[in-house]
Amino acid sequence: MSRSYRSYAKLNLFLYVTGRRDDGYHTLCSLMAPITLHDELEFDFSLQEVRVICDHPLVPEDGANLAARAAKLFFEQVRGRIAGAERGEKSEGVGIRIRKRIPVGGGLGGGSSNAACVLNALNLAWNHVLSKEELYHLGLMLGADVPFFIDGVPVVATGIGEQFEPCPDLPHFHAVVCDPHIASSTVEVYKKYDFQLTKIKNYNIKRSLNICSEEQGADIQDYLHNDLFEPACGLYPGIRSVKEEMEQLLTQQVFMTGSGSSLFALFSDHNQAQYACDRLKDAFGNRAAFYLTALR
Ligand code: ATP
Repeated sequence: MSRSYRSYAKLNLFLYVTGRRDDGYHTLCSLMAPITLHDELEFDFSLQEVRVICDHPLVPEDGANLAARAAKLFFEQVRGRIAGAERGEKSEGVGIRIRKRIPVGGGLGGGSSNAACVLNALNLAWNHVLSKEELYHLGLMLGADVPFFIDGVPVVATGIGEQFEPCPDLPHFHAVVCDPHIASSTVEVYKKYDFQLTKIKNYNIKRSLNICSEEQGADIQDYLHNDLFEPACGLYPGIRSVKEEMEQLLTQQVFMTGSGSSLFALFSDHNQAQYACDRLKDAFGNRAAFYLTALR
């Protein structure tokens, strides 16, 4: 009655803010890639209620937990759809134990990934009672990034992050991800974003999209970008200091994912990434945490 699944993190390899809707949501164009860094979610399907426990102090265990919200939404949706004998032993409850490895509030999508993992796990346990489209729809009710994690393949996301175009030929990469121990508020970072829609920016977006289409063997480093970096640093200057220190040590560019505060450097070679990760760990000590990861 119990099963474990991995819940993977993501990196925004590029992220351009493209506009703002009347309801206040910003629209974007972002290349989102799942990475091997993951949480472990263990499900106990014998419970009669939704219960979540997590080993990370900053993650709520009540109804505010995105995994709990996802489970409740799933049960609300399937209630009444399967009745009587067909339903068998299944109860409208689940126990979820989250082993948190993805830094919390770091722009790596941990909460959204957990929510998608719960929707997928419950749907599997309930013999695919919901279609993919319904899962995307439920996901979007929980957060703009959740639909991406339902499939967890590289995509270019547009709209508020809910429309996507798969990017299957994305070159493989290794990455060192840095958690600078700075809690960044997504809402505040977007608020701070100084809105600029220029021709140059539209040109850069079009150019960036080439990485997912015609350009064979393109160097992914040339496409990395994040419009939210400056606003995030305006609010949390520590992000810039850590980035600059990393760049000096690695002699290569470092980027931020999502609305921060996590940073990353990409490598095509595993050994180089391992070497870089070891150097960073030595230099920073306990001022920041570093993770060796790769495109999933
Ligand atoms: P976002 O940009 O959506 O805020 P993020 O990747 O920056 O996402 P998360 O790790 O998803 O950050 O955490 C964001 C907030 O969500 C935290 O304050 C955390 O307490 C809360 N949260 C709720 N449920 C979860 C969960 N299952 N895992 C992680 N955080 C969760």
